[in-house]
Amino acid sequence: MTDATELTRLTRELLAAHPPADTGRLDFLRARFDAGLAWVHYPEGLGGLGAPRTLQAVVDAELEAAGAPDNDPRRIGIGLGMAAPTILGFGTEEQKRKFLRPLWVGEEVWCQLFSEPGAGSDLAALGTRAVRSGDEWIVNGQKVWTSSAHLARWAILIARTDPDVPKHRGITYFLCDMTDPGVEVRPLRQITGEAEFNEVFLTDVRIPDAHRLGEVGDGWRVAQTTLNNERVAIGGMRIPREGGMIGPVAKVWRERPELRTHDLHQRLVKLWVEAEVARLTGERTRQQLVAGQPGPEGSGLKLSFARLNQEISGLEVELRGEEGLLYEDWTMRRPELVDFVGRDAGYRYLRSKGNSIEGGTSEVLLNIVAERVLGLPSEPRTDKDVAWKDLAR
Ligand SMILES: Cc1cc2nc3c(=O)[nH]c(=O)nc-3n(C[C@H](O)[C@H](O)[C@H](O)COP(=O)(O)OP(=O)(O)OC[C@H]3O[C@@H](n4cnc5c(N)ncnc54)[C@H](O)[C@@H]3O)c2cc1C
Repeated sequence: MTDATELTRLTRELLAAHPPADTGRLDFLRARFDAGLAWVHYPEGLGGLGAPRTLQAVVDAELEAAGAPDNDPRRIGIGLGMAAPTILGFGTEEQKRKFLRPLWVGEEVWCQLFSEPGAGSDLAALGTRAVRSGDEWIVNGQKVWTSSAHLARWAILIARTDPDVPKHRGITYFLCDMTDPGVEVRPLRQITGEAEFNEVFLTDVRIPDAHRLGEVGDGWRVAQTTLNNERVAIGGMRIPREGGMIGPVAKVWRERPELRTHDLHQRLVKLWVEAEVARLTGERTRQQLVAGQPGPEGSGLKLSFARLNQEISGLEVELRGEEGLLYEDWTMRRPELVDFVGRDAGYRYLRSKGNSIEGGTSEVLLNIVAERVLGLPSEPRTDKDVAWKDLAR
């Protein structure tokens, strides 16, 4: 078993062989991946060393102190947080070798082609069709709310391969090449004015069977891995104390005493404590993940993340008064990442509205926590045994 001493030795060896000051960013990141120091809990040969996940911090601290570049995790969050654990869990050896290295170093951005105009919370109702043709699948349909599709080289995609069986059983999971001529990406403007996400039209997109992830018809089970990881990726990001939404509001509080009132003070302290509890809970959840496969409990994290972001950003706007409503005009700009802390209060307030929708709405996550964490009776489901083609749409 690789321990902290061994990881420190390997990290220093990497730094000596590839001094960050004299090595190109991508070259350094590739060397780091090949040394197994990218995500130490991944298997050997795939960027890791099969070490406990908690020891990643040892490597990260050593590299940070040496001024080494990182892989800009916020820019490639869908790849790191969702595509990678799913490929690791269900991919063939060839798929893991082909996709994980360029994903981790950030050469290839990933997006998620799941939601459709008629299938969001009820994702299993999706209608995008994939039809087998020799060694390929021909895909037709429309996806929506696809974050980063305009930047992406690859997408994780779920499509219907069998309309004659109940909805959860006729879905297959694919890795889709976003440069295929049949993929059309159109920007969608959101409440902040910018276009962080897109609608994506798929017309006779050809996907080799070698890019199918998991068995034909097993896509719903594969997608659960993606969705469970998504909720931890959104709600349980590693951040330092005051590193999240609470940071900017605490800073204004300290620097602008003229804005303070007793009532706002009580609310700020309460939210500060809740944000810190949520941060530490996220830290503990991450430490419990051995190989990146969380269960439904990640839904709880994501629920409190959404609620806190909305309450804290609302408090910041109140505290700043009129100036809190001002924000830079981002109309139809195409951001590369969601940057809560680096932007202004008005942006934070508006963008956090999406937190209770993306990655599963808060209502749906409450259902998941009730049924799969607390074991309460499930909602009545009348369509469980009905073929997808016979469902009312
Ligand atoms: C910022 C942002 C980024 C996103 N990025 C992506 C992406 O990259 N890829 C992707 O595939 N999707 C993405 N999405 C889409 C997101 O996953 C869906 O919007 C979400 O799952 C909800 O689906 P819907 O919009 O169709 O709403 P609906 O499912 O139509 O829900 C409408 C309302 O009904 C409620 N509701 C529905 N079912 C139930 C139920 N059983 N019990 C109680 N209430 C219920 C919902 O909570 C909601 O309030 C993104 C969304 C946002 C906001």
